[in-house]
Amino acid sequence: MKYVDDFRNPEQARKLVEQIRRRATQRWVLMDVCGGQTHSLMRYGIEAALADCVELIHGPGCPVCVTPSDAIDAAQYLALQPGVILASFGDMLRVPGSQQTLMNIRARGGEVRFVYSPIDAIELAKQNPNSHVVFFAVGFETTAPATALAILHAKKLGLENFSVLASHVRVLPAMEALLQDSECRIQAFLAAGHVCTVTGYQQYEQLIQRFQIPIVIAGFEPLDLLQAIWEAVGMLESELPSIVNCYARSVRPAGNQQAQATVDEVYEIADQAWRGFGVIPHGGLKIRQQYRHFDASKRFKFEQVMPLASSMGHDICMSAEVMSGRIKPPQCPYFGVQCTTEHPLGAPMVSSEGACAAYMLYHLRGTSIS
Ligand code: SF4
Repeated sequence: MKYVDDFRNPEQARKLVEQIRRRATQRWVLMDVCGGQTHSLMRYGIEAALADCVELIHGPGCPVCVTPSDAIDAAQYLALQPGVILASFGDMLRVPGSQQTLMNIRARGGEVRFVYSPIDAIELAKQNPNSHVVFFAVGFETTAPATALAILHAKKLGLENFSVLASHVRVLPAMEALLQDSECRIQAFLAAGHVCTVTGYQQYEQLIQRFQIPIVIAGFEPLDLLQAIWEAVGMLESELPSIVNCYARSVRPAGNQQAQATVDEVYEIADQAWRGFGVIPHGGLKIRQQYRHFDASKRFKFEQVMPLASSMGHDICMSAEVMSGRIKPPQCPYFGVQCTTEHPLGAPMVSSEGACAAYMLYHLRGTSIS
């Protein structure tokens, strides 16, 4: 297959659905780790088509959703400091911190700009030499290389008015934390293909050994996902957990080593608060000491002047239950009532990768593979 339409072929999709049905002797519980996969599963009606033989639950792979309130509060604090321009991705502007959103801060006069990449933030710094630009960096292993590159680029340029408020997270420790939960129902993972493009998948061997759980690297198109589900069900039926790469057009076993080296140069692994999950050991990245000049948390020392919210969250949003697969979005009492894409109460409804937004967009409307 060559073009994206080939991966959306309805006839092939229906065949795979039938093959999965025939393969499954019981209803298996699979977690799709990435929010992009959740959206595809809903958009193409795969979840509904397989409902009798596979329960698809949705994981924490939405970067905006897992960014803790503390980090958002810190970004809001910085946006209100004289001479500071706070730059971030568009979705982050609508996600509530402990009290309000960056959009609210902008309405109050805070300098908040949205950018498409950290390099845009560097351009902003070059264009505004009398201001200090802070890039609020969130995301998984997929976005960390670009932020690391931006810091290296800023250093090379000798840019004095640029720093990064980093809240990068790592997927593997979160998957491990989910498996350690005594109420865990996950029987197999569909791992995030784009994360594995950077990290490779050799790292998952330890999870398979320890938890005897099948892991399939999955892409984002309907046939990618159906193929991955077919492989996962096969391993579950045969009781032979292993790792299968169903996204070989992008993922290599060792990943992108150049991107890994760039991240290693700038960041070190650290314990990290995830929204709704609390602190996950080794669950994130922090900027290394030698790049502290570009670390907004070191330059502004906001921890000393503002009370930080708990990463467990105090809001009514049930995002932790949704992102750990304990409930599906429609089981949240606010779903579609007080909480909609127009008036979101929580990040999973705000984010273009959020599970609640996916259900709002596709579940209520009804979709099908054909
Ligand atoms: S429906 Fe809204 S309130 Fe409920 S979990 Fe999703 S985002 Fe949070």
